[in-house]
Amino acid sequence: MEINLVSDTVTKPTQEMLRAMFKAEVGDDVYKQDPTVIELEARVAKMFGMEAALFFPSGTMANQTAIKLHTQPGEQLIADKWAHVYNYEGGGASFNSGVSCCLLDGNRGMITAQQVAGSINDPEFYHSPLTSLVCVENTTNKGGGACYDFEEFKKIRKVCDANNLKFHLDGARIWNALVATNDNPAAYGKVFHTISVCLSKGLGAPIGSVLLSDKATIHRALRIRKILGGGMRQVGYLAAAGIYALDHNIQRLADDHRRAKEIGAVLAQRSWVAKVEPIETNILIFSLQFQINEAVLLDKLKQKGISISSMGHGKLRIVTHLDYREVMHTYVLETLEKL
Ligand SMILES: *Cc1c(COP(=O)(O)O)cnc(C)c1O
Repeated sequence: MEINLVSDTVTKPTQEMLRAMFKAEVGDDVYKQDPTVIELEARVAKMFGMEAALFFPSGTMANQTAIKLHTQPGEQLIADKWAHVYNYEGGGASFNSGVSCCLLDGNRGMITAQQVAGSINDPEFYHSPLTSLVCVENTTNKGGGACYDFEEFKKIRKVCDANNLKFHLDGARIWNALVATNDNPAAYGKVFHTISVCLSKGLGAPIGSVLLSDKATIHRALRIRKILGGGMRQVGYLAAAGIYALDHNIQRLADDHRRAKEIGAVLAQRSWVAKVEPIETNILIFSLQFQINEAVLLDKLKQKGISISSMGHGKLRIVTHLDYREVMHTYVLETLEKL
């Protein structure tokens, strides 16, 4: 049994999802003539209380487009020190938009309105970069799948409005947050200027992200997506996978969350584990006792067919997902208990 717990991006489309893709009605989406893409965009926009949406090949491109939309070269964005937009998008914020990042020391990848307010450069002080954007993640990736309290978003938005800043949500795992917190997705549209969501993580689609905003902003985003090379033709085949995922794969995320917590409970009792971080969704981060060699442990698990990943600094990561089934889960729990 090969069990891959490295990421929730490793899932492969099921037969049912593939059938939905094969059946998709398509057109040239660069001319906005693909009915399936239009359907997906309308559906996700409505869900989050936004006017319009745009389909992207990756979450990175959707986030990078948002940064480009809200900033001018030389300006600065504010984000948590672990933010995906800073750490895992290849330096795109500086490459594509020419902006610097003011990184805040948040809690498990989450920042507060108070921290944001304290790090905005005075716009009259022209020696410093002009602060123009705040980016947050929900759930946080490097923060171990932590979920924001929605009230904090409202507070941050107030700070943004008072200081003429835009507010972007990197919602790669927003579905996990919605299932874990029971937040109303429609409320998100009122708080953020732009939201990116991924269909290819917990939802199990092979490709696809969607950027959400008002009509005028999405119209501008269309040009930026084109510049970045993200204009695609008969891409309804991929959008169909996203529609299928929205219909079938959201509620079941609760299973991923339960399994992550059950693995965490077993790990917490092992003598070789130093600490298990709090588990709210499908990401589990834990650290080893200092005398335990990380590479040896990873190799031992690998020999038993279980792959997990190292995050450096003695931290290991496990991510549960659609292709991690109950039989595998039983085996993983037993294997960890004996290790
Ligand atoms: C995965 C992820 C993205 C986007 O990643 P892509 O691989 O480009 O789709 C963005 N933000 C976060 C927090 C992520 O985990």
